[in-house]
Amino acid sequence: MTTTATLMDGKRVAQETLDVCAGRVRHIIAQSGVTPCLATVLVGADPASVTYTAMKRKRCEAVGMKSLKIELPEATTTEQLVAQITRLSHDASVHGILLQHPAPKHIDERLAFEAIAPGKDVDGVTMQSFGAITFDRPEMGFGSCTPAGIMRLLDAYDVDLKGKHAVVIGRSAILGKPMAMMLLSRHATVTICHSRTVDLPGVVRLGDIVVAAVGKPKFVQGDWIKQGAIVIDAGYNAGNVGDVDFDAALEKSSMITPVPGGVGPMTIATLIDQTATAAARMLGVE
Ligand code: NAP
Repeated sequence: MTTTATLMDGKRVAQETLDVCAGRVRHIIAQSGVTPCLATVLVGADPASVTYTAMKRKRCEAVGMKSLKIELPEATTTEQLVAQITRLSHDASVHGILLQHPAPKHIDERLAFEAIAPGKDVDGVTMQSFGAITFDRPEMGFGSCTPAGIMRLLDAYDVDLKGKHAVVIGRSAILGKPMAMMLLSRHATVTICHSRTVDLPGVVRLGDIVVAAVGKPKFVQGDWIKQGAIVIDAGYNAGNVGDVDFDAALEKSSMITPVPGGVGPMTIATLIDQTATAAARMLGVE
């Protein structure tokens, strides 16, 4: 069967976002004399996390901002991590703080996230940021980067969300839940699915828009997708495989994100853009 599905090119849209961001950074530096700075905090040496933080620092520097690399040993306690993040929260030369997720299991990640000053929460992980997004007060926080990046991608492809049925598979604090709130704010009718959902394929088949955020390779099957649906694959599993059976879903969807090159680049571009926004807010640059 031939398909007419549009591939949603996150790599291209992310680059366009970064190009605009570079101009904003030049403006911030010209107006304030200060170079925006993102602190990245990594606990332990998980290879994927090491790669992600390095990519984030690289993109940060590519748009003209500074990055401050904080690497802590695997044995770091929650108290030590909270103390380190609190220091960064009080450091006037730091405008954004990223704590790479997931922290090692012995750490209370929620406590560590909450030590990030709300104005520096450029990864959108604090309860304040979740509340700000949920209550439609974006100026009081930042969107969690992966769902906020997905919203940017949907906008770049002029997807009208109003009245559409969006099915989000996954309810994590950094992905599924904020994704659902962002879609709701844009007037979609939202269903959130999780591991206890009964008849998941039947629920997904109702979706005009399906967001897969499960963490299981090729979990979402082609015959779960309604003809013409828009499929967003937030999953990123070993071997560059998403949470959707891409080839099968391609036949049914009207638009679909590839893995890699879909949601991933948008996540990083959103982090960088939100760091520029945090710096502009802190430095009083319009
Ligand atoms: P997570 O915290 O492990 O959450 C996974 C969610 O999937 C949970 O809500 C879980 O339900 C649900 N789930 C698990 N098995 C299910 C099943 N059989 N049926 C229905 N729902 C099921 O994962 P996450 O951090 O949200 O990440 C999800 C995926 O996105 C991963 O592949 C991750 O690598 C990827 N990701 C990508 C980026 C990016 O930048 N591209 C960023 C972050 C994450 P319960 O709540 O009931 O357990």
